[in-house]
Amino acid sequence: MNNEVPGTRFHGLLGNLGKLTSIRDTELVEQSLLRTLGPLINVLDTELYRLDESQTVVRVIYSHRSKVVDSDGGARLVKRIEEITNPSDIAPEVMALTSNVRLLRRPCTRRIGDEYMIAYPLLGDGEVRGYFLFKRDREVSPAEDTIIRGVLEVFSNYYALLDISMRDRLTGLLNRQALENSFDRIWTAVSRPAAVIDDDLGRRNVPSQTYWLAVIDIDHFKRINDTYGHMVGDEILLLVARLMTSIFRSTDLLYRYGGEEFVAIVNAENSEIARAIFERVRLGIAGHHFPRIDSLTMSIGFALITPNLLPVEVLGRADRSLYQAKQDGRNRTYDYQELVDAGIFKDVDYAEPELF
Ligand code: GH3
Ligand code: MG
Ligand code: MG
Repeated sequence: MNNEVPGTRFHGLLGNLGKLTSIRDTELVEQSLLRTLGPLINVLDTELYRLDESQTVVRVIYSHRSKVVDSDGGARLVKRIEEITNPSDIAPEVMALTSNVRLLRRPCTRRIGDEYMIAYPLLGDGEVRGYFLFKRDREVSPAEDTIIRGVLEVFSNYYALLDISMRDRLTGLLNRQALENSFDRIWTAVSRPAAVIDDDLGRRNVPSQTYWLAVIDIDHFKRINDTYGHMVGDEILLLVARLMTSIFRSTDLLYRYGGEEFVAIVNAENSEIARAIFERVRLGIAGHHFPRIDSLTMSIGFALITPNLLPVEVLGRADRSLYQAKQDGRNRTYDYQELVDAGIFKDVDYAEPELF
């Protein structure tokens, strides 16, 4: 069977790490790694770089601690975590140092002025998946090196276990459990009132994030199993998952919700942009030439994630829209709100189907 999918490469489960956004449990583990190691090696600032399967830095987490002297003279440490997704400007000295770490697969040190910049590899599945980096006024002692390596090893093992427990075994996509775990944090992000930020120009408003949830279901999948057998069905599912992963943006979240059903959560300013994202995925699958079966289509229903509704209600809206798409001939994308506006759905909040 031909396993080549244009635009994608086979990679192990851990290779997908870069595809996740900050709405994950793994991110909390990364933050706690920095919080743990900083005090152990006696540095205030630590950094973690996460790579995707093509060795591109997809995420940087900075952990800062600074000493603040209160008015009563007492000193305390203020902690701050900063995360940057898809960073565009990484300092050249960091690039130079980390590329040595990657090539040598071991910690490297570089002297910059009267400081040392030290980087350790984060390993997973035998590959370099990222770097732990810090600056200090002296090199790492053998005892400190043992501590850092030990902590990094425990971290990597835990990270891998956590990652595997959140993933579907066939496709490597995030599983239903991961989706349920994500709901809390997604709803918190959506509910957060527009943040007010102080800057040089005074105060400005940062709009809260707008997310959309889609339920995606393969059309007539049973026929594929019936005609070619379950094994071929599994291969097709895997191909569909890989294709979708390559078409969605790296910041989108994609879950295998059930057998041939997927849930996607995307960030988009308005419904037109959300529709365009889902349509690109639908058309990408419909236009792909699959082995054995000539073509395959999917139906999609999506709805706005709003803090006024429970996750199960938003899922219900997307699912009703999907059901309508199936009724109307499949291979189409329906927006819940459009169906309400068109009078096809009469009761906005009535008779949401039970999904759990
Ligand atoms: P519709 O267009 O209405 O969605 O039709 P359908 O045939 O896709 O829908 P239905 O829900 O009736 O059937 C889904 C099928 O998906 C039934 C099941 O055999 C198959 N399926 C579910 N999970 C897996 C899996 O992991 N592997 C394989 N090979 N088949 C699966
Ligand atoms: Mg189906
Ligand atoms: Mg189905």
